Amino acid sequence: MIPCLLTFDIEDWFQVENLRPLFPPERWETIPRRVAEATRRVLKLLAEHRIRSTFFVLGWVAEREPELVREIANGGHEIACHGYGHVMPMKLTPMQFRDDVLRAKETLEEIGGQEVVGYRAPSFSIDRERLAILEGCGFHYDSSHHPFGLHDRYGRLGDLGSPVAPGMYVLGDQMVELELPVEQVGGLSLPVSGGGYFRLYPAAFFRRLVMRTIARRGSYLMYLHSWEFDAGQPRVRGAGPTRAARHYVNLKRTLPRMRQLIGMLERRDAHFMTARALVDAVRRAVAAGVSGEPALPQRAG
Ligand SMILES: [Zn+2]
Repeated sequence: MIPCLLTFDIEDWFQVENLRPLFPPERWETIPRRVAEATRRVLKLLAEHRIRSTFFVLGWVAEREPELVREIANGGHEIACHGYGHVMPMKLTPMQFRDDVLRAKETLEEIGGQEVVGYRAPSFSIDRERLAILEGCGFHYDSSHHPFGLHDRYGRLGDLGSPVAPGMYVLGDQMVELELPVEQVGGLSLPVSGGGYFRLYPAAFFRRLVMRTIARRGSYLMYLHSWEFDAGQPRVRGAGPTRAARHYVNLKRTLPRMRQLIGMLERRDAHFMTARALVDAVRRAVAAGVSGEPALPQRAG
């Protein structure tokens, strides 16, 4: 049984960092939202495969699309937090960051009717100080550590120490960090967790990388954004060639590729679960002073 976490960051196409110069937050209210429609495609796909998943929802979106948040919760999925206003945490002061996550957490809990204990930072922008703030705000886990050195925006957590299970670390008192997987191929670090890389690499190559990750970690963690399931979103000019490439590459392929990937994982005994379910098992094992509890994925080989 391979624990597989398919996770989704729920935000609208115009809220991403790549397009921020064109769409500052003051303009968001005037732009037709597409996030609910895009997210419903994800919910339909997961329902077809009876998959439970984790949705890191933006507080701004939850306030405007409360029905969508309830649909996610009613589908048996976990509601987690992607902050309120989609500002990179490292661009906020610690106090501003705390206000942002608490506002989002309270909004999501009120609408979704479940405790929110998971967080993922916009653009994986995180550091130790902000992680401690999350723990103080009642979060149990963070999934913002992306150990990929070439990207210009990903935050750094420094030395994480020894993992309690492959790709999972306990930082602070009991805060669990779920690391996004990266594979080493020919001296290069290749992200294998999803996002633009999922759309950019040839599909069969991506699936081979996923199998390498599973062999190495015994589990798999993936992220995609709701707008990656929205091939019909408006194309805008002026973002710059690199940013436009990151945002628009192969959007049409997200859904069919996702079906292929899920099929491959199903054939390999995947156990699709929420991030919280896995984190709860880690925290129980740590509290009991046990390593190697069967609920935790062990390193293969
Ligand atoms: Zn985001």
